[in-house]
Amino acid sequence: MAGREVDFLLVGGGMASAHCAAELRRRGAEGSILLVGREPEPPYERPPLSKEYLRGEAGREDAHVNPAGWYAENGVELLTSLNVMSLDPAARTAKLQGGEEVGFGRALLGTGAMVNILRVEGAENEGIHYLRAFGNSDAIRADAEAAEHMVLIGGSYIGTEVAASLTARGTKCTIVMMEETVLSRTFGADAGRWFGELIESKGVTVHGGEELDAFEGDGRVRAVVTKSGLAIECDAVVIGAGVRADAMLAQRAGLEVDDGIVCDSKLRTSAEGIYAAGDCCSYDSVVHGRRLRVEHWDVAMQQGIHAARNMLGDDRDYDVVPYFFSDLADWASLEYVGPAQDWDEEVWRGDRESGEFSVWYLKDGRVAGALSVERSEDLAEARRLLADGVDVSTAKDRIADPDSDLARIA
Ligand SMILES: Cc1cc2nc3c(=O)[nH]c(=O)nc-3n(C[C@H](O)[C@H](O)[C@H](O)COP(=O)(O)OP(=O)(O)OC[C@H]3O[C@@H](n4cnc5c(N)ncnc54)[C@H](O)[C@@H]3O)c2cc1C
Repeated sequence: MAGREVDFLLVGGGMASAHCAAELRRRGAEGSILLVGREPEPPYERPPLSKEYLRGEAGREDAHVNPAGWYAENGVELLTSLNVMSLDPAARTAKLQGGEEVGFGRALLGTGAMVNILRVEGAENEGIHYLRAFGNSDAIRADAEAAEHMVLIGGSYIGTEVAASLTARGTKCTIVMMEETVLSRTFGADAGRWFGELIESKGVTVHGGEELDAFEGDGRVRAVVTKSGLAIECDAVVIGAGVRADAMLAQRAGLEVDDGIVCDSKLRTSAEGIYAAGDCCSYDSVVHGRRLRVEHWDVAMQQGIHAARNMLGDDRDYDVVPYFFSDLADWASLEYVGPAQDWDEEVWRGDRESGEFSVWYLKDGRVAGALSVERSEDLAEARRLLADGVDVSTAKDRIADPDSDLARIA
C-alpha cells in the first residue's frame, strides 16, 4: 500500500525529467508531479561543465534548466539528494531512499548515464578526474589552477572540450587516445584530422594510437604511462572514456534492458504507464529503422517533452532527428545531425581553410549524418533529407558547391 499517490513520478533530476515536468504543465496537466533526483542541485544542463562553467565564465544558476522558483510556482514537488531505490511496475509504486513509498499513475525514467571507469594500476592516486557533475567540474578547475600540465585520456567530446577550455585558461594540455585522430569516431578520419590540426595549432599536444596502461604517482598522479611505453609527466588527469546508460533501477524492476532501457517508438518501456527519455533510453527509431540510444542534450530535452505529451494521450512516435553541438573554446563550434552508423562516402561543402564547412556522410546515396562547422544553415537541409530518406546520389555536386541552394534538392 503506497504512503501517498502522485499522478506523475519523474525519476532522475536531469534534462529529461525537467523538460517532461515543464511540458506537462505547459499542456495543462493538473495532476500532481513529483520529480526525484539524487544530486543536490535542481536539474541542470551538463554542457557548460566542460565549457563556460569550467572556464569560470558562467555560474551554476546559468545551467539550471528551470529557474529556482519555477518548481514551487508550477506545483512540481522537487526532491533532491534523494534516490528512488526501487520500482514495482505492476503495483505502480516506487520506494524512495528513507523508505517512503509513492504510488504513481504514470512514471518517467530519466536516469541518465554513468561514466565508464578505467581500472588500471595507479588509478587510486589523487588528481584523476571524471566529468559528469558540477562537483567534477569544480575539482578539475581547482586542479587546473595549480597544474602545469594536465593529461586528457580520450579523444572524443569530453577530452577535446576540456583540453580546449583548459588551454584557453592557460594550462598546458596533452590528449592521449586510442584513435589516431580526435573526434574521428563520430566524424571520420578526415574531419578528425581537421579538428586535430586545429587544437594542435592552439597548443594542445595529441598522442593518437596510444592505450592507457597505468598511472604513476606518489599519492598524487605524476605520470600517465601508455602500453607502448610512453610516460607523460603531469599534475592532473581527466578521463573521458564514454558513458553507459544508468538502467539499474529499471533492470531491478524487471523492465526490458539492453544497452539502455528498452522503449518502443513512443518511448514506452516494457511496463505499462512507464516511459523513458534521455541518455538512458534505448528506443525504436522510426527515422533510422533501428534501435538507438543517444547521449545528447537536445535529445534528452526533446524526449522528455515527447514523453510528457504521450503520457497525456498523444500516443505518437518519437521522430525527431538527433542533433548535437559542441564547442572547442572559442576556436570552433560544431553541430551534427545523425547519427550515422556507418557511411560509404563523404561530401565536403565549404572551406576547410577558413573553418566554415559541412561534411555530409552518405550511405547508399542517402544522408546518414552531417557535421557543420560554422555552417548551421546546411544542417536544416541535411536534417530534412535524412528524415525523408531522399536519394541524393545525383545531387552530390550540388551539395559540394557551397553556393548552391540545398532547399531545391527534392
Ligand atoms: C561534461 C559534459 C558535457 C556535455 N556536453 C554536451 C554538448 O556539448 N552537447 C550535447 O548535446 N550534449 C552534451 N552532453 C550530454 C548531455 O549533457 C546529456 O545527454 C544530458 O545531460 C542527458 O540528460 P538526461 O536527463 O538523460 O540525464 P542526466 O543529465 O544524466 O540526468 C539524470 C539524473 O538522474 C539521476 N538518477 C539516476 N538514477 C536515479 C535514481 N534511482 N534516483 C534518483 N536520481 C537518479 C542521476 O544522478 C542524474 O542526476 C554533455 C555531458 C557532459 C557530462
